[in-house]
Amino acid sequence: MVLSLLRRSLVAPPTRPQPEPAALRVAHGTASYDVVLKRSARARRLTLRVSSATGEVVLTIPSRTALATAERFARDHAGWIATRVAKLPGRIAFADGVEVPLRGDPHRIVATGGRRAPARVGRDAAGGPAILVPGDADLVGKRVSELLMREARADLAAAVARHTAAVGIPARRITLRDTRSRWGSCSARGHLSFSWRLILAPPFVLDYLAAHEVAHLKEMNHSARFWRVTERLCPRTDEAEAWLRRHGAGLHRWGA
Ligand SMILES: [Zn+2]
Repeated sequence: MVLSLLRRSLVAPPTRPQPEPAALRVAHGTASYDVVLKRSARARRLTLRVSSATGEVVLTIPSRTALATAERFARDHAGWIATRVAKLPGRIAFADGVEVPLRGDPHRIVATGGRRAPARVGRDAAGGPAILVPGDADLVGKRVSELLMREARADLAAAVARHTAAVGIPARRITLRDTRSRWGSCSARGHLSFSWRLILAPPFVLDYLAAHEVAHLKEMNHSARFWRVTERLCPRTDEAEAWLRRHGAGLHRWGA
């Protein structure tokens, strides 16, 4: 699973000075929040912000402020973060006119009316990327969900096939789920499962999750050996982890 990955970046190598972490985790009650750290030469004071668009929590830190001071500030304001996150706008339903990030690219949902048929990817009247949904207007949400599941399944199956061919171990089964706590998992019997919401992220993120779970077919742990396998399969592993820490929560807003 992926949620524990943050710990890896907090373990300093013994000799080299450690670059600052990109984010830190702040606990409040039973919940925890990822806080993205941003150094700024212009900032005069520590500033916490919760983005209403993405749900991202950002701490801006003046250049000369010590990391420990910034960390203490974030932890002291855990209650404030929890309150702000709780007040974020709710879910975004799949409806006519709404833009959905299919493979990370905004696609406008267009209800085209006419005969009932599955939704498909195409172009809107202005030539922009769109999800075209024929048939009854009240089935738009359902049709878009079905399309996203199909696309997620196709992309994950292709990525898993590529990575399993590379490690030489077949996967037994791929299941799509809608889990909040993890993006993917691998059972001892070789069953892989993934969140369908990965289709809303840029392709390298989905590819990373496929590589991560396929690497578990070889190494059922998060050892150094496991990470070597993952990084060989997916050179953008660190970038993908960082993307998920920063934007992962936002993927859960989609769908009624
Ligand atoms: Zn894992």
